[in-house]
Amino acid sequence: MSDRQERLETLRDELIDRLERYRADKTRAGGPLDKDLEEQSIELENAETIDSLENEAEEELIQVMHALARIREGQGENCENCGELIDEARLSAVPFTTLCRDCAEAG
Ligand SMILES: [Zn+2]
Repeated sequence: MSDRQERLETLRDELIDRLERYRADKTRAGGPLDKDLEEQSIELENAETIDSLENEAEEELIQVMHALARIREGQGENCENCGELIDEARLSAVPFTTLCRDCAEAG
């Protein structure tokens, strides 16, 4: 197994753990509304923060799973867009990338 694959699998497990924690936090925050308005609005803000963290982690997880699938297909080091080899330094800096620097910058 390559280092990169190992790192991605670790990252995937961490993201899954994080998502589970966010979901547990939100379930707790959704308790009875017997508090004053100020407290309620603080809770709402927290829930929104958790939502955006959750979305972020979800998107990252999708990227990680996608990169792992490409590695399993033997395409892990090739840019998904142009097929060129992705720079070694880039792969090590952003292990879940599936695009070479040029294609990533072209958006
Ligand atoms: Zn490319």
